[in-house]
Amino acid sequence: MSLDNVTSKLAAALEESDRANDSARLIAVSKVQPIERVISVLESGHRLFGENRVQEAAGKWPELRERFSGVELHLLGPLQSNKVNQALDLFDAIHSLDRESLAKKLAGAVQGKGDCPKLFVQVNTGEEPQKSGVLPDDADQFIAECRAMDLPVSGLMVIPPVDENPSLHFALLAQIAERNGLTDLSMGMSSDFELAARMGATHVRVGSAIFGERDYS
Ligand SMILES: *Cc1c(COP(=O)(O)O)cnc(C)c1O
Repeated sequence: MSLDNVTSKLAAALEESDRANDSARLIAVSKVQPIERVISVLESGHRLFGENRVQEAAGKWPELRERFSGVELHLLGPLQSNKVNQALDLFDAIHSLDRESLAKKLAGAVQGKGDCPKLFVQVNTGEEPQKSGVLPDDADQFIAECRAMDLPVSGLMVIPPVDENPSLHFALLAQIAERNGLTDLSMGMSSDFELAARMGATHVRVGSAIFGERDYS
């Protein structure tokens, strides 16, 4: 696939489900990709990108931001508390708010800065032990705790278990968001972004379908 291909599939999925064309944003997940591929997507005009690791993002985006104006960068992977300040300098949104200690750290750091990135609480809908995210049963309370710390949570994020039908997980995420008055849903990756768009995603996170397979070797 490619950026154009993904963009038109996303538009078609939104149209099919009577959603406005701009109701779901495409985050191009550039982690691990060779820099030429990232630059080529930037040159085609795309400006919204996602990265998984603070360190990796710090190594490429400050320079790319000087070359290309209007870049918006979202952190999708787990955030260690000791990298919070660096993350606040780099990212416009954090999709992986997943524990009280991180919320506290963020709340303190944001107070000093005055502005706060867009925040998504990650929910571990599959209750997988190796995965980050709050458990579905703990989500309401965690969201309330974040709000009590003046953290402006705007939505929820999910990474469904690889071997399960993602629609159940997307539906559960939408349900938790709705009952907590949250509008943003970060869900859907290369293999299921069209489904996610039909089920109400406001942010889809697509890597390999845009850039090609990642080479971790
Ligand atoms: C890597 C990653 C993606 C993109 O995955 P693809 O399958 O390449 O589209 C999306 N979300 C998160 C959290 C990721 O880590």
